[in-house]
Amino acid sequence: MKNFLYLLCLCLIVFSCKNEEELKAFSESRKAGPVQVQTNEFAIVIHGGAGTILKENMTKDDEAAYKLKLEEAIRVGYEILKNGGSSLDAVEQTIHIMENSPLFNAGKGAVFTNAGTNELDASIMDGKTLNAGASAGTKTVKNPISLARTVMEHSPHVMLAGDGADVFAQEQGLEIVDSTYFYTESRMNSLIRVKNCDEIEEGDNKTAFYDASIKDSKFGTVGCVALDKSGNLAAGTSTGGMTNKRWGRIGDAPIIGAGTYANNNTCAVSSTGWGEFFIRGMVAHDISALMEYKGLSLQEAARVVIQEKIPDLGGDGGIIAVDKNGNMVMEFNTAGMYRAAMNDKGELSIGIYKDYED
Ligand code: ASP
Repeated sequence: MKNFLYLLCLCLIVFSCKNEEELKAFSESRKAGPVQVQTNEFAIVIHGGAGTILKENMTKDDEAAYKLKLEEAIRVGYEILKNGGSSLDAVEQTIHIMENSPLFNAGKGAVFTNAGTNELDASIMDGKTLNAGASAGTKTVKNPISLARTVMEHSPHVMLAGDGADVFAQEQGLEIVDSTYFYTESRMNSLIRVKNCDEIEEGDNKTAFYDASIKDSKFGTVGCVALDKSGNLAAGTSTGGMTNKRWGRIGDAPIIGAGTYANNNTCAVSSTGWGEFFIRGMVAHDISALMEYKGLSLQEAARVVIQEKIPDLGGDGGIIAVDKNGNMVMEFNTAGMYRAAMNDKGELSIGIYKDYED
């Protein structure tokens, strides 16, 4: 009996050692992952919002104006990356260009709430440290993406909201504007049209009424993702939210994991679309998680989330993303998404619609 117990103990020890070795080997192989090819040393992708963007509703001048601004914005980030700057700087500075333009639903071009106010959301994430910052419902900060970065770098918090966020921005010396800065006639007209549209929808049990140009005006948002020469990923998103949103409503854009996510082990993602669904779907983190835990490629992970998961929930929209190897993705399930991408060779691609060569 004594001998038998001794033998049993020995077997257990050998067995557990073997498992440990296997475990070690397994975890090493997991760290290494499948053979990866570095597609781009650095790369940058931007979006200016997804929605019912139809060619028949756009003039040639509109198209040209959007493309010009997208190109101006992405070139700012591209130059930063090319000169060895950080992905965080590229994301912030690129988003500034779009926030300062009335064309996009962020900063200057922010849409109106049902109370006729402009309440802006933004977030940014550093893929190297998994540090993140966000601001929600601000009314006086000219460039909310910089507030998000300041929250990340100069506060112990991840998100500040409402008056507290506005005051923090002022204390930190960020540019403050009167809330009238965000008034644009076109966004006010959109609010009036959407209010009429929503009334009709309610009367018809939300089924019958559909007007592409009106539905489109509910969406917007800008975002940028970048990989820098040091292999660091960053993502940022900034928005006025959705036209006629209830005042106080916070969308996905400032929610880390929904509107924005970056992780040096996987990818950087920025979302645009119907925020409530993007929050429930945890879109940006889900794409990263599919890569990390299931070994999916960025392209496949983005497809599953945007073409299957979000439509199944009843939502729509899109994402831009770049992975740690510089692969870039622009995936959306709407008729269009303002978008642009640039690789390390300086090759630029710009698009608006899904069904047309732009
Ligand atoms: N996702 C934004 C929000 O729901 C809107 C958008 O992307 O157009 O606030």
